[in-house]
Amino acid sequence: MLADVAARIAAAARLAQREPADVTLVAVSKTHPAERIAPLIAAGQRVFGENRVQEAQAKWPALRAAHPAVALHLVGRLQSNKAGDAVRLFDCIHSLDRLSLVSALAGAMDRAGRQVPCFVQVDIGEEAQKGGCAIAGLPLLLAEARAAGIPLAGLMCVPPLAVEPAPYFALLARLADDNGLAGLSMGMSGDFETAVTLGATHVRVGSALFGARG
Ligand SMILES: *Cc1c(COP(=O)(O)O)cnc(C)c1O
Repeated sequence: MLADVAARIAAAARLAQREPADVTLVAVSKTHPAERIAPLIAAGQRVFGENRVQEAQAKWPALRAAHPAVALHLVGRLQSNKAGDAVRLFDCIHSLDRLSLVSALAGAMDRAGRQVPCFVQVDIGEEAQKGGCAIAGLPLLLAEARAAGIPLAGLMCVPPLAVEPAPYFALLARLADDNGLAGLSMGMSGDFETAVTLGATHVRVGSALFGARG
């Protein structure tokens, strides 16, 4: 399934006259045990995503020790009191979405002596329960993150379920452009090709790689 997903990403990139290599596949391994993850590493996959700090702490230290070239991204909501753990464990955070997390992450990065690039998650469909910064609050959040020295990777979104995602991806791309950000973390198993045609630099794909979650 990895080869199939990679081929679909490459085809979507070519359709949009983009380089397939400019799209990073983040294999979202949440809920799946190390035995399911190891075969993907063996097949060449190098970037993985988890949505919970505690689950990642249980699964990944051993996998990372065995496979130092693998990068681990946090794609789920982050509580401020887990910022220190997240900064030590992850190579990239896709869910910076509020001012309180800016100070928590900046402090954690200082203490750990480790700069972890962050995507700012935008509440693109105005669904507060999903997390993400309101579009109107984005300029302030970006300014505060920049002032705090957090390396910004770009913008991230999870569009509303069961509606055409393209307008939301296009809006996220415009917001990133307006704010001088290059990275776009958007697209999941059901819509990653659409996201790639609209500029995604990182697609977060779980079930299309691992099968349905139990
Ligand atoms: C689980 C998850 C994904 C992957 O979802 P699939 O539909 O299984 O591809 C992507 N992004 C986030 C934030 C997730 O929590």
